[in-house]
Amino acid sequence: MNLVVLPGDGIGPEIAAATLRVLETVTRALSLDLTFDVRPIGLASLSSAGTTLPSAVLEACRQADGIVLGPVSTADYPPRDEGGINVSAELRIQLDLFANVRPSRTREGLAHWGRTPMDLVIVRENTEGFYADRNMHRGSGELMPTPELALSIRKISAPASARIARAAFELAATRRRHVTAVHKSNVLAVTEGLFLREVRAVANDHPDVTYDEQLVDSMAALLVRDAARFDVVVTTNMFGDILSDEAAELSGSLGLAASINFGERHCMAQAQHGSAPDIQGQDKANPISLIVSAAMLLDWLGRRHHDEKLTAAARVIETSVDAALRKPSTRTIDLGGALGTGAFTSELCGDIGRRGEGGYNGARD
Ligand code: NAD
Repeated sequence: MNLVVLPGDGIGPEIAAATLRVLETVTRALSLDLTFDVRPIGLASLSSAGTTLPSAVLEACRQADGIVLGPVSTADYPPRDEGGINVSAELRIQLDLFANVRPSRTREGLAHWGRTPMDLVIVRENTEGFYADRNMHRGSGELMPTPELALSIRKISAPASARIARAAFELAATRRRHVTAVHKSNVLAVTEGLFLREVRAVANDHPDVTYDEQLVDSMAALLVRDAARFDVVVTTNMFGDILSDEAAELSGSLGLAASINFGERHCMAQAQHGSAPDIQGQDKANPISLIVSAAMLLDWLGRRHHDEKLTAAARVIETSVDAALRKPSTRTIDLGGALGTGAFTSELCGDIGRRGEGGYNGARD
């Protein structure tokens, strides 16, 4: 299988290099059939190719079995007609990656900022909502009829709501069997009402999964007060984006925030956070976000292709990350530790190599 790796901007090249080292290590340790194709995108390709997403790279992503995307500095990109394509959004749209799955869990021995431990997954709709580049057939979802008036259009559709709900319930069936829909139907009765109508219909088809609903503002507070009560959370695009950063930080750090974006055919690993230009080039970035995202991609590929080696590889990476986080001496700087990006990655690769000794059957996860 071939994975395309897109390093991105800011801390992207640092955490993508760390992730590639981890993937190469687990590939050797468990004798996986994985190859990697690293392609420049973002500001690096804007200067050399005149665009942040060359068409050849988009085509390579289409043909690949999976994609690993580093964060991109979208705020620094020129307008689209000058080559500034939001790589993250464009891949989500072009490859129809409708589900953005964002887990947050507290780890043994590691301080967390919420009042309770947590182990939840936010399943965020990725293809519509309040995203100006995602909700119109032509043109932008943001309009400025006069210099003193700005409007923003949000699209919510029944098919997109139904398919994200199905993804959430299917995931819940593999976990603690509970789904919470997060919404704001008290003020957006039509759009949020449509979203809830579709989620409730899917809930009716899954009597083995319990279901409840929460207003988004209450949800923001409950994540701090009692995140332990949530298992799988399904919500619209922007609510999911905001709540998942909150959940990740409450679980320990935004630097732990992993995610995958998937559709019917494609899957892309992507850290939840941005390109963190404030710590770029200082060896301070926590690469765990992208490393665990890559593990989630291996798990997705393993389940899709019934390849137990790939799911085992994902578990080995997760277990090694947990082991590193348990000890203060092997933590990264954002978690109060002393290890830079490179030293942490070396530590992790050493542990993965040891766990992989004896091959896939003997992998100690
Ligand atoms: P950010 O997520 O990059 O950073 C927020 C804070 O978290 C910063 O203090 C940063 O240092 C810290 N942080 C983030 N990731 C970290 C890590 N792995 N290890 C340690 N600390 C980490 O948000 P921002 O500063 O608002 O945005 C920076 C750029 O990223 C902007 O250009 C924005 O448009 C872009 N962005 C991209 C994506 C994406 O690629 N999907 C998502 C969000 C923002």
